[in-house]
Amino acid sequence: MISILRLVAVALDQLEVAVCIFDTKDRTLLWNDTFLQFFPEHAGHVYVGEDYRENLRRFYLRRLSEDELSGMERYIEEGLQRHQHQQRAFEFDHYDYRVRVASLSLRAFGRIRLWRKTAPLLTGMQDRISPKQVQLPNHISADTVMALESLADGILMVDQQDRAVWANHAFLVLYGLLNIESLNRRMFDDIYVAAWHHKQTTSDFATGLSVLKERQRFSGAPYVLALPQDRWVRVVELRGTQANGCSYFSHVDITDSRQQQEKLRQLTMHLESLAVKDALTNLVNRRRFDEVLESEWRRALRSEATLSLLMLDVDHFKYLNDTFGHPFGDEVLKRFATLLDHCVQRAGSLVARYGGEEFAVLLPGTDLPGATKLAEFIRQQVEGMSLGNEQTKLVRITISIGVACVSGSELELSSSALIDMADRSLYEAKREGRNRVVIANK
Ligand code: GH3
Ligand code: MG
Ligand code: MG
Repeated sequence: MISILRLVAVALDQLEVAVCIFDTKDRTLLWNDTFLQFFPEHAGHVYVGEDYRENLRRFYLRRLSEDELSGMERYIEEGLQRHQHQQRAFEFDHYDYRVRVASLSLRAFGRIRLWRKTAPLLTGMQDRISPKQVQLPNHISADTVMALESLADGILMVDQQDRAVWANHAFLVLYGLLNIESLNRRMFDDIYVAAWHHKQTTSDFATGLSVLKERQRFSGAPYVLALPQDRWVRVVELRGTQANGCSYFSHVDITDSRQQQEKLRQLTMHLESLAVKDALTNLVNRRRFDEVLESEWRRALRSEATLSLLMLDVDHFKYLNDTFGHPFGDEVLKRFATLLDHCVQRAGSLVARYGGEEFAVLLPGTDLPGATKLAEFIRQQVEGMSLGNEQTKLVRITISIGVACVSGSELELSSSALIDMADRSLYEAKREGRNRVVIANK
């Protein structure tokens, strides 16, 4: 339950809805980043298990004027009563906004409180609550601030020493900063590291750090950084464009396009695998086999190694189809393919459906005795395989196998020579009565 609520709290961050959840004894259970943005007085103070009274105390300490402070305990008690019995949402003025708060019972679990900004305030509530006004850096006009605040992209302004001097709201949200004071004239690298603080770091974070390091040497080009919770930003630096020597960094949230790229990449991989796989048996198809044969042939030539090939064909398969039907024939091919795949374990070996009921096994680095032994093992395994169903009753199949091996100067021929040799041996095996292994003689 709590982990689901935690996910919901993160989701609500994206809607800029603040949430805080309490247990049945009014102790704090969890909250989201927006909660800390709405109520910065709790940042670094609120903890799991904290009594709601402490939360209210901090809230009123900031809101009440000096002559109101003597009524603190009464305000806290009333706040607690409201919290426990609130049925309907109400609104109050808070900093630059009017905020609507709802409180709902989670029955045996406790209570959830949710806050949402409903409208900006034109008159100065903020002066009363937060006497410490944010100092705008020199040369940034109120008009510029208005314009930058209306952008969806995060904007960070740095001075000549690369220290953060101002950022818009979108930037603060991206990097999980509570307010402009949290920039604290830090370097952007520090802000980036802090955004990952207490979050589960991934290799993307390490990559982000090295991107930042690299940027110090090759500044100018846009770069991409990973943020927690699978979010991504593209950073563009506009250096030295300001008369005062300050620079702007724009931070664009590119999470959506990254996710689409990733889906496309997976789809491409899937399509590529479909293009080289046989749908019935799930073995690689003839096309892929030909490619691998070609590259293994070249490799064997370079490294003076041997290359062996088995060509396998199901005996009297047409009879099987004609007697029990095509779907049963398909089933037999699937079972045979699985068995073949199990029999061929050596890394680098390749099992392919060569066509119809014919299969190929490519064995790089295997000599003729080794290949023959494997062929005989497969033949016996197939002979012992029980097939069939209610209708067909017990069915057995056999296979014929042609074995060929090349090495040394033979590799100066074309790779099709190996296939021809194995094919001729397979034909020989059929002619000699099937269910046997025949070795190519050179
Ligand atoms: P032999 O012992 O000489 O190999 O005889 P055979 O009957 O196995 O050989 P033939 O080449 O005469 O017949 C092969 C049959 O395999 C014909 C074809 O319809 C069937 N076949 C090929 N591909 C498939 C498939 O994907 N599924 C099924 N069920 N049958 C297939
Ligand atoms: Mg056959
Ligand atoms: Mg055949």
